[in-house]
Amino acid sequence: MSRIPLCIPNVGDLEARNLQSCIDTNFVSYAGAFVSEFEQMLSEETGASHVAALSAGTTSLHAGLVALGVQTDDLVIVPTLTFIASPNSVSHCGAQPWLIDCDVENWLLDPAFLSETLSKECQRDKSGHVIHKPTGKIVRAIMPVYMLGVPVDIDGICDVSEEWGLPVLVDAAAALGAQYNGNKIGECRAQLLALSFNANKIITTGGGGALISNDGALINHIKHMTTTARTRPGYDHDMVGYNYRMTNVQAALGVGQMHRFSDFKNAKVKIAQKYHEQLSIIDGCESFPAPQWASANHWLSGIYLKDWDDEKIEALRFKLQDNHIEVPPFWKPIHLQKPYLKAPRHLTGAAEKVWSKIMPLPCSTNLTDSEQNRVIDIILEFSANT
Ligand SMILES: *Cc1c(COP(=O)(O)O)cnc(C)c1O
Repeated sequence: MSRIPLCIPNVGDLEARNLQSCIDTNFVSYAGAFVSEFEQMLSEETGASHVAALSAGTTSLHAGLVALGVQTDDLVIVPTLTFIASPNSVSHCGAQPWLIDCDVENWLLDPAFLSETLSKECQRDKSGHVIHKPTGKIVRAIMPVYMLGVPVDIDGICDVSEEWGLPVLVDAAAALGAQYNGNKIGECRAQLLALSFNANKIITTGGGGALISNDGALINHIKHMTTTARTRPGYDHDMVGYNYRMTNVQAALGVGQMHRFSDFKNAKVKIAQKYHEQLSIIDGCESFPAPQWASANHWLSGIYLKDWDDEKIEALRFKLQDNHIEVPPFWKPIHLQKPYLKAPRHLTGAAEKVWSKIMPLPCSTNLTDSEQNRVIDIILEFSANT
């Protein structure tokens, strides 16, 4: 029986030809035509007018925070239900994440809860800074996460952020191709959005990321900052810069992947629909949340075993694994992770309630019908017998 992985890259001849052209032209590093072509394609797909292709999702988040003015000892609002890269990028600034709970229904940062949290825990000082009263630290930015490729209510979040004068950097790492109220993800009031092209995302550049924005000056500053902040022609550097740019080799993969993007998205949507149709008949088994403003890219498929106890979920996981189907546990909330046990937090218990009931299922764009049927049949058989 062949192994069915959770989510693997789908690379082919187009990518191979682009890679060969990097070798033929000797453009394998930071300069090269594929980087600007990839940036242009991302601009079209996201609706954001400006794009900086960078080395990873994590470095994009870090560079974005620095560009928004996050400094040592600041706080950045981060939802506790996210991948650890979101708070890590805050730590890389010498700052701390202020962990906020998610909505129990849609698993996302909720504007009303954010507003209530800021009113309860913060006050403005004489110079206009937003001070977190329990720690006395400055809150410098808000990082909503488009978890599972589902946009948050970004209009609502931006209303709150503008009221408090806080910039927004969206962790849209896995949300390429998602929509908010019919708009592309870059067509919003957030200052910056970060993308990732890591191996398990909807498109991959091996490793890679990008920052997108409608603020051209901000993206130009980010490009400068992430190429050692050098002012040419000599070696003058006007700040402590970073070496975070994407290489032409990565972008060559990315251009090939973007040519196939609509096929990838259709495949992801079809996989999610099939799981939904065949598995939501099971008692206590739901699809991932679909808030009314969101059109997800279905980067990751899976089920939410809302009413199942943890032992039953583990038993299903073992059964799938025994059948060579990869089903890892879902991200554990950040406030339970060793590096963040002391991070400030404002919790309701929602993330702790939902995370262990989320079961991602195989959803590679090259997953075959018979492979998906195998996954579905095992789950149906398990639920019929327990
Ligand atoms: C993948 C991912 C990241 C990190 O991106 P890398 O390219 O792996 O650094 C950050 N946040 C979220 C929500 C992600 O899914």
